[in-house]
Amino acid sequence: MTKIRPSQDILIRLSQGIAELASSDKWQDYLKLQTHFHNYSYANVLLIMQQRPDATRVAGYGTWKSLGRNVMKGEKAIAILAPILYKRERAQSENSQKENEYDLYGFKVANVFDISQTQGKDLLNPYQKLAGGDYSALYKRLTAIASSLGFDVFQEEMPPEINGNCSHSNNRININKNNSSKQQIKTFIHELAHAVMHKDFTDRALGELEAESVAYIACDYLGIDSSNYSFGYILSWSNDSKNAETLIKKSCTRIQKTSSLLINMLSEKPAAAVA
Ligand SMILES: [Zn+2]
Repeated sequence: MTKIRPSQDILIRLSQGIAELASSDKWQDYLKLQTHFHNYSYANVLLIMQQRPDATRVAGYGTWKSLGRNVMKGEKAIAILAPILYKRERAQSENSQKENEYDLYGFKVANVFDISQTQGKDLLNPYQKLAGGDYSALYKRLTAIASSLGFDVFQEEMPPEINGNCSHSNNRININKNNSSKQQIKTFIHELAHAVMHKDFTDRALGELEAESVAYIACDYLGIDSSNYSFGYILSWSNDSKNAETLIKKSCTRIQKTSSLLINMLSEKPAAAVA
């Protein structure tokens, strides 16, 4: 059987779509919203991941309130380390006109919450979940593929910000049962890409870019256009479209290899009588 290999131009199409989105008003509004969320240090990203592996968007109690969302009763805060900074005495820095010079005095524990621990006003979302479809047969095929890769798959009740996840520690993929059939298929492939590519992989941003690129390519092969979701998702993990393009180019072999693997598994005859 001939192996199917996705062509280069789909990756070019992906980068172009991301670039177009990045220059749209919709994206600029989204960036304004992002200024409310800090860029956490590597240590803090690890702390957040340890305490809440599903965290997608994290901010302090007051920030959530200012965005029209409240932390729900009984939610446990995620503890991170906040730097204690003191403004440097002006007199000490001779000739210096610079303001905002700070010295680091140490760290204190600060409490933050993930968006899934809050409720209230919807945050502007520049990428839409895919709607509709009935892909139950395809879902079964993907479940069989997951199983051949050693992963069990579960439909779970999850907050709307989370579409699914993949755990290498218990070989388990979860899919948000409340999403549409089309979105579930897209997520399923994304999580399968994590399963194949990202065991002991610590660069979350690159991991998300790779997994979503694989999902975009495999969905395209299946006749599902995931661009309304995939472009924005990748862009949100890669700062800007130039960086996205560079990273897609850099990871192109890995992305193609994994999408090719999954597409070929999908195009193989299904095992007889999968009940
Ligand atoms: Zn992911």
